[in-house]
Amino acid sequence: MGSEHLDVLIVGAGLSGIGAGVHLQKRSPGRTYAILEGRERLGGTWDLFRYPGIRSDSDMYTLGYAFKPWEEVKAIADGPSILRYVNETAREHGIDRRIRYGHRVRRASWSSGDACWTVVAEHAGAEVELTCSFLFVCGGYYKYAEGYTPEFAGKEDFQGRIVHPQHWPEDLDYAGKRVVVIGSGATAVTLVPEMAKKAAHVTMLQRSPTYVVARPSEDDLANKLRRHLPAMLAYGLSRWKRVLLQQYFFNLCRRKPAHAKKLILSGVRAYMGPDYDVATHFTPRYNPWEQRLCLVPDADLFIALRRKTASIVTDEIETFTAKGLRLKSGAELEADLIVTATGLNLEVLGGVGLAVEGKAVDLATTFNYKGLMYSGVPNLASSFGYTNASWTLKCDLTCEYVCRLLNHMRKHGYAQCTPRLTDASVTAEPWIDFSSGYVQRTLGRFPKQGSKAPWKLRQNYALDILTLRFGRIDDGVMEFSRPPAKPSELQKSLVG
Ligand SMILES: Cc1cc2nc3c(=O)[nH]c(=O)nc-3n(C[C@H](O)[C@H](O)[C@H](O)COP(=O)(O)OP(=O)(O)OC[C@H]3O[C@@H](n4cnc5c(N)ncnc54)[C@H](O)[C@@H]3O)c2cc1C
Repeated sequence: MGSEHLDVLIVGAGLSGIGAGVHLQKRSPGRTYAILEGRERLGGTWDLFRYPGIRSDSDMYTLGYAFKPWEEVKAIADGPSILRYVNETAREHGIDRRIRYGHRVRRASWSSGDACWTVVAEHAGAEVELTCSFLFVCGGYYKYAEGYTPEFAGKEDFQGRIVHPQHWPEDLDYAGKRVVVIGSGATAVTLVPEMAKKAAHVTMLQRSPTYVVARPSEDDLANKLRRHLPAMLAYGLSRWKRVLLQQYFFNLCRRKPAHAKKLILSGVRAYMGPDYDVATHFTPRYNPWEQRLCLVPDADLFIALRRKTASIVTDEIETFTAKGLRLKSGAELEADLIVTATGLNLEVLGGVGLAVEGKAVDLATTFNYKGLMYSGVPNLASSFGYTNASWTLKCDLTCEYVCRLLNHMRKHGYAQCTPRLTDASVTAEPWIDFSSGYVQRTLGRFPKQGSKAPWKLRQNYALDILTLRFGRIDDGVMEFSRPPAKPSELQKSLVG
């Protein structure tokens, strides 16, 4: 075959790819592996996004890895601190030496005869081929090349600058400028108060509002625990506190939406006062947690609105004009700079084209297994975090499961594992039950979830611990097979 062979190939060196390397080394040692990263630096999201104020919107006790305490004072951290944390993790565990930068994986093809994937990556303008026994895709969930911008009429007429937050120009000076930020999601609510510190004025232009919740950026209890307890114990306690609170609030939103809505809106009113038009600007048409909630640390957005350095306009764009925007209501918004915080382009499995036994896999026709593998696709897992809680909580558990699976295969001499959906009573449901535009636009290309376990995505950390950490590997759904009677040299290496 000629290509280099690895036991495990990880795609992506973001938060989840680096975590995967650490888990693999600890829990399933003695394997050859590498991380192929398309970019020239690690960190993924936390390296790519450079817009003012870039930060997490979940706390770092749950966005951090289970194995590495978050020790900074702020629980809601800025992008550079998160990037430092990921870099530090990679260095501490020697993961940085396993990364091959500038390798963008384009396709992977599975052969049961050889029980391996042949993986093709683009590197320095050429194609590089590798084989691996197990492919672990940690490529995130959106396209790096381009953020999402809807078609806007008259865009070319605008005489100011238009910027998408995914491609923030280093030289952009917005001091004293009139800025319009189009959008109402996490990026918009981050940008608006931060830019309002320097800009002449920032207008957040939203078509429809989002639920916004203010939380302190620091967690006093976590900081106290950290001063008095060993680091891992303090971190573990803070992590569980956050997990339980998140889950409680999510369940409250799903079970008693009217009550949750009232709570959220009364929080906004407490900051904005009785005269502010909360109904127009902060009351979405959907129930809480039908889309992601937006968290604002230390109420920074509300403070900027109260100081009138920022304002919200809830309206639709009719057209861009030379001086700014004309809205459907007829109002005009003048601007020197327009920021299109209009979202991401979702992408499945890092855009890697898959084939099994020479036949292209249409992921939209597959069912996810335990939220990490796909029906009929052998020896491949992906790290896809929670949509209702921190990403890393699920990624850590995914890695634990993958290591248990690999160890099980080694112990029993299996070369291939394939989740098979044979239960005809399982019906298809959408992968994510969010009504957000960015989800709905691309959901058709995503795998499905099934109506029951192990095909159901439960979005519940405690239940996932039971399944992924303690559940049976040989559960009757995962089909295992040994290499054929006369193994090739390659197959011998797979079963170790
Ligand atoms: C602005 C922003 C803020 C966020 N804040 C939060 C938050 O507060 N809490 C939360 O839980 N989540 C948040 N998220 C989601 C966030 O993306 C995840 O939390 C996490 O960073 C994802 O890590 P990842 O490693 O899985 O993916 P990414 O960070 O996207 O990293 C994927 C890596 O894989 C590489 N890659 C992809 N495809 C290929 C390929 N084919 N070949 C080679 N390399 C490839 C990419 O170059 C990248 O380096 C946020 C997302 C954004 C965009």
